[in-house]
Amino acid sequence: MNNEFKIKFWGVRGSYPTPGESTIKYGGNTACVEITVNEKTIILDAGTGIIPLGRELVKKAMQEKREIELLLLFSHLHHDHTQGFPFFVPAYLPKAKLHIYGPGGTAETVKHVLEHNQSSETFPISLREMASFKDIQSLRESQVIIWDEDGVRVAEPNSKSSSEAVVIRIHKSYAHPGGVYVYRISYQNKSVVYATDTEGYIGTDRRLVNFSRDADVLIHDAQYREEHYFGSLNGFPATQGYGHSTATMAGEVAASAETGQLILFHHDPSYSDAWVAAQEERAKKIFLDSRAAYEGLEIRLPKSFIEIANSKLFNQTSEVLK
Ligand SMILES: [Zn+2]
Ligand SMILES: [Zn+2]
Repeated sequence: MNNEFKIKFWGVRGSYPTPGESTIKYGGNTACVEITVNEKTIILDAGTGIIPLGRELVKKAMQEKREIELLLLFSHLHHDHTQGFPFFVPAYLPKAKLHIYGPGGTAETVKHVLEHNQSSETFPISLREMASFKDIQSLRESQVIIWDEDGVRVAEPNSKSSSEAVVIRIHKSYAHPGGVYVYRISYQNKSVVYATDTEGYIGTDRRLVNFSRDADVLIHDAQYREEHYFGSLNGFPATQGYGHSTATMAGEVAASAETGQLILFHHDPSYSDAWVAAQEERAKKIFLDSRAAYEGLEIRLPKSFIEIANSKLFNQTSEVLK
């Protein structure tokens, strides 16, 4: 094992795709984040960013002469988080294995929404006709996803897992219309929290703060400027209650949860690159290690983190032995 833990952003825009010269720096594709832990691929949401990611995964699998297996997690099922899926090439490959999980009122909700998105009236190819093997489930907040040497499985809390397992926990947030799942993806002593489409509360969202505590990376919704949110920006309606945050709200969660770094996500589609850059400055005033996500941004959690952990342990042990 080479202990790789990598986060790559393929789509960072909220609500709808925004190609054009004012969005070149941060990009115009809707939500999609790829997490790679060693050979395991975990995809967060299927906005239009998943389309180029799909092509890349197929290319890589062909080069490495292996079949694709991946885990796709939906934060929720709004358009901007599902609209790329019909164009996701791995879903068409007969030998590809896709585990597709998300929220829902019944165990079938995710499947039904994807089927509906590809009904004969709306799209030429149905979900069934996509040739891959698909394991589609709506999960409960208390369930845990484990991906280890035995494959991917949904387990009950406190289930045992090996040290090589990627473990994913769910936090159900009510701070978005219809609710949204926040995921915490952990591998050994590193973790990333994906909290998109969530609105801050006065005094910060304490449940989210607890869930995100000490994560290495917090990816947090930061759609709006303060003035936009509160309705004092000329030409923009107030957006309080829409289920999205300001950069300040995101910064407050990162600071309270003492996360390693903060990535601002789900940029408003009407915002230019300059406005998104200003959001980053705003967040930095509260939480210094803040960055606005852009398409192509890669974060590698230190390759040597296990060695760092071991050397800490070694130092502590040698202190005790003294
Ligand atoms: Zn969204
Ligand atoms: Zn949404």
